[in-house]
This record gives sequence, structure tokens and C-alpha cells, in this order.
Amino acid sequence: MASIFNAMNKQLIPMERFNRDSQVVFFTGAGISAESGISTFRDPDGHWSKHDPMKLASQTGFQENPVMVLNWYADRREAIQKAKPNAAHRTISNFQKLFSNSVVITQNVDGLHERAGNRSIYELHGNIHRHKCNSCGTMIELAKRKMRIINRCACGGGVRPDVVWFGESLPLGTINAAFEAVQRCDLMFSIGTSAQVYPAAQLPVEAQSQGAFVIEINPEPTPFSHLADISVRQEAGLIMPQLYEEFHAQLK
Ligand SMILES: [Zn+2]
Repeated sequence: MASIFNAMNKQLIPMERFNRDSQVVFFTGAGISAESGISTFRDPDGHWSKHDPMKLASQTGFQENPVMVLNWYADRREAIQKAKPNAAHRTISNFQKLFSNSVVITQNVDGLHERAGNRSIYELHGNIHRHKCNSCGTMIELAKRKMRIINRCACGGGVRPDVVWFGESLPLGTINAAFEAVQRCDLMFSIGTSAQVYPAAQLPVEAQSQGAFVIEINPEPTPFSHLADISVRQEAGLIMPQLYEEFHAQLK
């Protein structure tokens, strides 16, 4: 199949720089989930689009109206359960068989990487399927998947999804582990991320500044596009399988 990638970029990948022991990072953002039909809460999808994202994903919003916030997350989880990992997620699993030293760093909270069989996943913004106490941070198992009732932690705190809200810090252990993986990587795939939200947006820049080869895949140009070693303006589900074939065929 002729494509932008095959026509223009194939010869640009310096295959001699990589082998099966190379350290590889797959860095992903909302774009890879969008290809599975998962919208961000900024997209118009039904009645929630009328709500202020700040009210749905902030400490203030949760304090003001916990029922509304929990209902919104319950609806999100329902939509996510119906969605399926796409060809890009599945191709990462194939790549991880090729490169045993590889990790996935994601800004997504939907758990699709795990469902696709990806491993060594760092979830910078948490996971919508996990819950914790809003006061003491204890992880809490849900009695009901939908969780429209406010459960209480033993300490009295309210139960909330374990996702990073506006104004909250990224989990320190996870962001540190992500930066360490990036600092030793030889090859990075930056997939479906707008490269605008820090500190996550710093990761491709960091990878490149310490010598990694960075391939960006995003339908739209990003602030990082002109820095990337290769920037492919295509959907990841289309390009990742082609890239995999290329690496699979040529890697020593
Ligand atoms: Zn608690």
C-alpha cells in the first residue's frame, strides 16, 4: 500500500542505530484513544458538552457537586468499556515483542493500552477504572462498576476516580519513572499527543536532547513537529503497523 510513510520517510529511519536491545518509549496522548472513538470531555458528546470541564474535573467541582462528577465519570467508563483498542495499541504490543526494553508512557486514563496487552505502562494522569479516597489517597475497590452512589473511605473522605484533575500534580513516582525511561531511550514514538501540556510535552524534547531518534505521529502539526526526526501527519492506526513491518524486516 502506497502511503505518505512509504513514499517519503522509509529511507529516513537509521535502522543501523537500533537493535533488539534498544530502549524504546511509546509516548501517547488523546489522539490514539480518539481513533478508538473515545472523545475528550472538550468534544461535543451529548449533554455533558454543556458542562464546564472545570466543574467535572477539579477539586472544587467535586466539593460542590460530587454526584454530578461521579455520574459523569460513570458515563465515561461506560463509553470506554464499549470502545476497543485499535491497530495502534495492538501494534505497540507487537513492537514490545521486538524490543524487550520498551515502555509505554501515556496521558490517557482509559486503560486501552493494558487491554491491548501493552506492558510497562506509566499512566501520567491516572486511570479512570481505579478509585481512591479524596482525603487520604487510599485506593478503594468499587462495589459497583458504575459508582453513582458516593462511597466513603474509612477515614470519612469521599471516593473519586484516580485521575489527575485540573490544578493537581502528576503522580510523582510515575512522572519520575517516565523521565528516567526517556533519558535512557534510543527511540521514541510520540503518538497522538498535541505536545502542549507540560510536563508531559517535555518528554519528546528530553528524549531528543539526549540523543534519541523521535518519530512523531499525529494528524495535525504540533509545536514539536519541526523538531521531530520524522513527523508523520497520519492516523496512528494506519502508520504504526507500517512502521512495525519496517522495523520487523530490518532490525538486526
Ligand atoms: Zn480516606
